[in-house]
Amino acid sequence: MEDAAMRKQHLFIGGKPTESVNYITLQAPYSGETLAEVSSASAEEVEVAIAAAVQAGKEMRRMPAHQRADILYKLSALLEERKEEAARIIALEAAKPITAALAEVDRTVETYRFAAEEAKRLTGETVPMDAAKGGEGRIGYTMRQPLGVVGAITPFNFPMNLVAHKVGPALAAGNTIVLKPAEQTPLSSYYIANLLQEAGLPDGALNVVSGDGKTIGDVLVEHPDVAHITFTGSPAVGTSIRSKAGLKRVTLELGSNAAVIIDRDANLDKVVPRCVTGAFTYQGQVCISLQRIYVHSSIADEFIRRFAEAAKQVVVGDPLNPDTVVSALITSKDVQRTLDWIDEAKQAGAEVATGGEAEGGVLRPTVLVNVPRDAKVSCQEVFAPIVVINTVDSVEEGIEHVNDSIYGLQAGVFTNDIHTALHAADHIEAGGVMINDIPTFRVDHMPYGGVKQSGMGREGVKYAVEEMTELKFVMFNKN
Ligand code: NAD
Repeated sequence: MEDAAMRKQHLFIGGKPTESVNYITLQAPYSGETLAEVSSASAEEVEVAIAAAVQAGKEMRRMPAHQRADILYKLSALLEERKEEAARIIALEAAKPITAALAEVDRTVETYRFAAEEAKRLTGETVPMDAAKGGEGRIGYTMRQPLGVVGAITPFNFPMNLVAHKVGPALAAGNTIVLKPAEQTPLSSYYIANLLQEAGLPDGALNVVSGDGKTIGDVLVEHPDVAHITFTGSPAVGTSIRSKAGLKRVTLELGSNAAVIIDRDANLDKVVPRCVTGAFTYQGQVCISLQRIYVHSSIADEFIRRFAEAAKQVVVGDPLNPDTVVSALITSKDVQRTLDWIDEAKQAGAEVATGGEAEGGVLRPTVLVNVPRDAKVSCQEVFAPIVVINTVDSVEEGIEHVNDSIYGLQAGVFTNDIHTALHAADHIEAGGVMINDIPTFRVDHMPYGGVKQSGMGREGVKYAVEEMTELKFVMFNKN
């Protein structure tokens, strides 16, 4: 953070801190402490950032792959050296418990390393031209070229690693970027921009413009010089971006109400703690947070008893306490919304096995049993430490419930029967199926993205590089 004494965070354009006409006060969601006065970009300032990205594009396109890789490796190394400092920024601005924030920084270090490796693997293929009549005597091959300026719009919940999933692949492929971080978590992005500068990134290759989503988003989405919009956030905003983007390439990583199925033979000693992790880590504000559990009726009572017991033990409170798992929700509005949703489920016949109340900004880990399918806590994205547990008589019935959703990001199935596992893998409607793990499982090089209202396109560094490059075909006529 520059200007530490005044705690004023300027925009980052053309490689330099750039004063904005507007600043807003950023407060920590847990303590209410003022963290900084953060620039809030105007439409004109976003245009300046896009122009800087266009200008830097010339150098980035020419830069050899080994040099792009070196910059990304260096960034990764710098971040690793400063991981405590970086994690503290995440913990304060996002109210992410410090242990989870450190884990996010570790993942970010790895994501940039994957990006460095991917920079060296931008390969094409040769096409057997003589397979077609009339193709004889010709050589054909494909190559991948950068798109140009990437507009990246990111959410609050993983302010470093989800930014890395856009910045890393974009730079690996030789693009330049205008990054718009979430209103609540801009400091993590500015921190990375400074490290990239130190790592040798050309001025203007990454520009950061914080501020109002619609003001900045509209310019990025509609500007003719922005070639690609990569968005991670809520389905409502994703839908509006898609409708405005015209022929621009768009990647959307949206929400979900992720589910797991637990078969009769599952080992509860392993499954219960994994499900607790999946449901409550970072107070459930994870796009693949475990929200719905469908457990086989033969083990349901035992599972519910053990799960509710474990949920009661989850440590709640200050994000700077290393034992904390659940801290404040991102806004006080979310506390009220989730309490209302719990009430609605209760009115419809659900029982609260534990939790259901809030202290300040912190909602206690909440377990609801026998929730009707159309209650909001089940059919919408809850994005809070709330999990619903329902009983099923077979994995097949569980699959029907999992698929009974407008979302489809990831799902999990715990079973020891290989046929059941393969059947579930085939029939679950989601971008990813985790056998014998929670839907919340993610490492950063695996393909990741959703079906239905969970989005379109894939991240996971190699897959994002594909989205951020244009396939070009070249043919030589030897005749
Ligand atoms: P959000 O949609 O409110 O905000 C995301 C970003 O969009 C922010 O930077 C915001 O300023 C910006 N924005 C707001 N209005 C805009 C507009 N009109 N045009 C363009 N940009 C606009 O989401 P959030 O609350 O920050 O994040 C939570 C959501 O993100 C959840 O739905 C969660 O599931 C989703 N998410 C998805 C993934 C994934 O990979 N699929 C990962 C993390 C979070």
